[in-house]
Amino acid sequence: MPYNRGMASSSIVVLANAEIRDEFISEGVERLRHGASAGDVAEFIACAVEDDPDEHTVGYGGWPNILGEVELDASFMDGATLRAGAVAALKGFRHPISIARQVMLRLPHVLLAGEGAARFAAEIGAERRDMLSPEARAAWQQRIAAIGEDTHQRDTIALTLRALGERRGSDTMNVIVRDAAGHICSAVSTSGIAWKYPGRVGDSPLVGAGNYCDDRYGAAACMGLGEAAMRVGAAVQAVMLMRLGWSLESAGREVARQLSDLLGAPAAEDPTRHAHWVRILLMDAAGHVGAFATRPGLCYKVQRADDPHPLLREAVCPA
Ligand code: ASP
Repeated sequence: MPYNRGMASSSIVVLANAEIRDEFISEGVERLRHGASAGDVAEFIACAVEDDPDEHTVGYGGWPNILGEVELDASFMDGATLRAGAVAALKGFRHPISIARQVMLRLPHVLLAGEGAARFAAEIGAERRDMLSPEARAAWQQRIAAIGEDTHQRDTIALTLRALGERRGSDTMNVIVRDAAGHICSAVSTSGIAWKYPGRVGDSPLVGAGNYCDDRYGAAACMGLGEAAMRVGAAVQAVMLMRLGWSLESAGREVARQLSDLLGAPAAEDPTRHAHWVRILLMDAAGHVGAFATRPGLCYKVQRADDPHPLLREAVCPA
């Protein structure tokens, strides 16, 4: 099927993770009603979440790595063209999602990491910001104190393995937007797993793992243990199953089952055992939505053009 075939339907929809504030989603829907594009609305919502200090796995206020540095991952994908842009392990800039989108627009590349991502951000005049909030710094200091270590010790591997065994909230920003023209864009932004090893990159900036979008078949975005989403190729796999004719429901269930099989029952000594789950948001080409997870109790939000506010729903857990 050729790209850009032009969709007949005009159903506007914003699909997002439950942790995103209702007002950000509703403002996005309002903009879509006034003709904004899926890409502009996805970026708008992602930027609002990146600025929200109460979102501790995204942007400002995100949990730092084991050295107390906030390293951010983000990706942006345009379902009309299959163009994508991403940044990984980026430090010191306010809006990783906007930088990811600019990678897509200005370079013949998809993913920039670390120093190269920061160089690019500076070159395009992106706003700098110290992304470590006082609350996140205090939580990190407490964690380091709790494991009886200091960061001057040289064995960063041992330090990370000890620090990781703490349960921390996970609220990676997932947003999938369909505009009045039927175009879909997906955006994912995160600070990743709290107390991670420096330079650890999760699924969020990896097209195909934590984010995938194709107007012709649908879009997917992931939250949870990035290493599992990467190993299953979760986002692209769900969209490819829909391409092969699977319904959204059966594609989502299949990918969630594969993730559950992969994750299994975590070993008692596994330092990431508290984070052993993944949730995938799915939208098909016609704007139907759903979410599928490897454990119960994970929710998402959806708002359509006629809804006065986002509806909260629980993801299906097929296991
Ligand atoms: N998926 C993200 C990552 O692994 C983390 C999260 O969703 O909390 O980096």
